[in-house]
Amino acid sequence: MSTTETETTAAASATPASGERYVYSFGNGHADGSGAMKDVLGGKGAGLAEMTNAGVPVPPGFTITTAVCRHAHRTKGQLPEGFQAEQDEALAQLERAIGKRLGDESDPLLVSVRSGAKFSMPGMMDTILNLGLNDRSVRALASRTGNDRFAWDCYRRFIQMFSSVVMDLEKGEFEHLIEALKHKRKVKLDTELTAADLESLVGEFKRHVRKRKNRDFPQDAREQLAMARDAVFRSWDNDRAIYYRRQNSIPDDLGTAVNVQAMVFGNMGETSGTGVGFTRNPSTGENHFYGEYLTNAQGEDVVAGVRTPQPIENLRQEMPEVYRQLHEITKRLEKHYRDIQDFEFTIQDGTLYLLQTRNGKRTAQAAVRIAVDMVKEKLISEQEAVLRVEAASLDQLLHPRLDPKAKVTVIAKGLSASPGAAVGMAVFDADTAAEMGHEKKKVILVRKETTPDDIHGMDAAQGILTATGGMTSHAAVVARGMGKPCVSGVSAIQVDDKTCTMTVGKLVVKQGDWITIDGSAGTVMLGAVPTIDAEISGEFQAFMAIADKFRRLKVRSNSDIPRDAIKAREFGGEGIGLCRTEHMFFAEDRLPHVVRMIMAAPLVKERRDQLEARTRALEGLTASPPTAGKATAAAHRKSVAKYRLSLAALKKEIAELQKDLALQTKTYHGALAKLLPFQRKDFYGLFKAMSGYPVTIRTLDPPLHEFLPKREELMVDLARFPRATAAHKKDMAKRYRLTVPQLKAGMPELLLRVESLHEFNPMLGHRGCRLGITYPEITEMQARAIFEAACEIKAKGGTVVPEIMIPLVGTVEELSDQAGIVRRVAEETMSKKGVRVEYLVGTMIEVPRAAVTAERIAGVAEFFSFGTNDLTQMTFGYSRDDAGKFLPEYVEKKMLAGDPFVSIDQDGVGALMAMAVKGGRQGRTGIKLGICGEHGGDPESVEFCHRIGLDYVSCSPFRVPIARLAAAQAAVRGSTQESDRR
Ligand code: PEP
Ligand code: MG
Repeated sequence: MSTTETETTAAASATPASGERYVYSFGNGHADGSGAMKDVLGGKGAGLAEMTNAGVPVPPGFTITTAVCRHAHRTKGQLPEGFQAEQDEALAQLERAIGKRLGDESDPLLVSVRSGAKFSMPGMMDTILNLGLNDRSVRALASRTGNDRFAWDCYRRFIQMFSSVVMDLEKGEFEHLIEALKHKRKVKLDTELTAADLESLVGEFKRHVRKRKNRDFPQDAREQLAMARDAVFRSWDNDRAIYYRRQNSIPDDLGTAVNVQAMVFGNMGETSGTGVGFTRNPSTGENHFYGEYLTNAQGEDVVAGVRTPQPIENLRQEMPEVYRQLHEITKRLEKHYRDIQDFEFTIQDGTLYLLQTRNGKRTAQAAVRIAVDMVKEKLISEQEAVLRVEAASLDQLLHPRLDPKAKVTVIAKGLSASPGAAVGMAVFDADTAAEMGHEKKKVILVRKETTPDDIHGMDAAQGILTATGGMTSHAAVVARGMGKPCVSGVSAIQVDDKTCTMTVGKLVVKQGDWITIDGSAGTVMLGAVPTIDAEISGEFQAFMAIADKFRRLKVRSNSDIPRDAIKAREFGGEGIGLCRTEHMFFAEDRLPHVVRMIMAAPLVKERRDQLEARTRALEGLTASPPTAGKATAAAHRKSVAKYRLSLAALKKEIAELQKDLALQTKTYHGALAKLLPFQRKDFYGLFKAMSGYPVTIRTLDPPLHEFLPKREELMVDLARFPRATAAHKKDMAKRYRLTVPQLKAGMPELLLRVESLHEFNPMLGHRGCRLGITYPEITEMQARAIFEAACEIKAKGGTVVPEIMIPLVGTVEELSDQAGIVRRVAEETMSKKGVRVEYLVGTMIEVPRAAVTAERIAGVAEFFSFGTNDLTQMTFGYSRDDAGKFLPEYVEKKMLAGDPFVSIDQDGVGALMAMAVKGGRQGRTGIKLGICGEHGGDPESVEFCHRIGLDYVSCSPFRVPIARLAAAQAAVRGSTQESDRR
């Protein structure tokens, strides 16, 4: 029987009756565990087992399972029954493998004790090296290696590390002692300290521990091991680790494994060394051996940056055989794991050891290149390649980002509302942003929150920063649509647009001060931080072509203007899933007409209603003239006279109403007539940019007051008006789009309108299809503009696929009303132009009632598009603009898994969607189904949309590649699960 077999049997015999095994050994070409046991052994432990089994030279050791950590957490530090016996046996096995004993006074075994969770959490938990040294074994190490300095250096490092990690002492306090000694010795570098210096340092370290902890530094190696193991378990719950898990969605209840492994030394002279490397370049993906090393050093020296490591190429000259072995082994590991490897190695006296290998973290650019290259090298399949790139990470390739080498001062954090980095001067109002933008100055528009009125400033700015607002706030949605970085909901900043300042604690940022925002990280920084431009490489196109082979979902974009539509096509968009027509209304040349339309429309309606009531009254009056009856002649005459008077008064009133109605109608229709050609031109541009792909155009949606000035502002200006200077008046006239002489009468009129449009809860008020129902002429005008544009393209031989979408439908009757108008206008226009265009009329599903009654709605709708922004708002009853105030706390307290405005709440909102899909299909065979809420660009939500069988997702142009990849990944994962079930 070989030693290994004996040892394996011995270890197995320590397994408790429960059958759960707590310790797994590895070494000498055999491991008890395997690479598949990440849940039990953690990533590192599983990797060590797998490497050992693959014949890679790995220092022997053992892994304590994650179950022990979980047990210790549950029981406040207790260890499971039977565990100690297993650990003792595994240690004995390790001692036999190395031929040294832990704590031995003549030839000690030294070990490292390292954390290792299922998912890599680099640097988050604790590690202890050189464990086993004490006052006696250090001397043994010195005489065995013939290197006093090396031994004392190991010991002082060990005390330092152990004291800070296990005994909770400040690392810096030890650094001070080192600095003081260097100062005394008049040397600059640690390496200049002699063996005697280090020995005296050890003495000082121990005295420091005694003073601070009221106990001696532990000398018993087994006690050291137990204390270190328990400290590593505890480190699972340190703040860094908790934060990292939260950021990376790693469950809190997994626990970490602990790896105890024989130390090998890279600091034993010039034939020793240590290094780290990657089998390919992790930042560009280039297929070349990449890494660095230091001779005569320990691992932490490479990381600590005390000495500058050399490129791995130099090792080829210095130790050619070691280099050859390292290259051969790591390439073999890459083939074995079929992924780029990130490895750590140590050379002890000319012998190479691999300490660790894991799939290397890489930039998005590298991930794409490696995936494409590995398909070419036939190392992985195309399906695997598709899964190798995190969909959300493609953002890094499409937007400028902060130069990773740059030093940054983060002053506040908010939501990562729209990715990419932007640098500019802080500006606090849209007009100034627009002016400075036109002068080619770089600005960041800083607002408490943005409104549609700010659109020109947003357009001119490099990026947008808001103090309030969530992930579907106006700023977030519009910025994503424009592909501009945006950080929203930065509650730590106070924005004062009167003084044009932004305050963060004591810091005041004034207009013109340079700031930087990183919309991918949600951070705000002081000064102009250097950025790196986005670059779309050939590999990116090749990768996306592979992804496209697998996806079933089509991907469209939410684009309102041809420029965005063209961008979306470049990114592979296959149509427009949402054109928010109101965004077209905010352009400088349209807004005056929109305002006129809004001012007149309610008056037209009011006059019509009044006229109707008056006409009815007149009819009633005419039908019942006073009769003589029993009245005296005088009384009858009197009532006839009164009757005539009433009749005349009514007729006069009717005539006046008719006159005013005619006037208001003229203004109203005049404004609509002005808007029509603008809209037609917009739609023509969109149809053209989409050359034959479907274009979904939504009729007007937002509450009308959004187009008018703010009530409070108007009131303040009205109060100031009598004393206003000429310059002020000019400014007011500009803001209200009136001439100075018009201000006196115009402002009160404007205020009257604004007040009449005021709503307590506008998002649930007069908006969406409710507007088109009250003001059918607006829907008519929009429908006419759409069909005139479509006919024009068709007449020129082009292809158009218009899809007209009615927003905020809750009942089928609402949809029938609006769809009726659209279809009537479509027929009228087409017959007038003598051209036929195929088109669809459908609805958004964004009101819960619509989802519940989807079957009936599908009787009228030819397509559904889920408006998950409003659907989420209305399902939860969370205002999408205000939820940012409490959602982070909900997530923090685990009341919600995440922000439901970012990723679909599958249990609630998702259930409504699934219900609507079913109802929709029952109501209309082959009904087209899509999504156009912001979730359409979120990978998890895209996967959900794939699962419930939508036909397409629609998102902002810059998220189109992300959605394409997420859709492909959903299809690949889906078919893998399918075949697993079979
Ligand atoms: C939605 O509600 O999901 C939607 C797309 O419409 P908007 O964001 O314009 O309300
Ligand atoms: Mg909506």
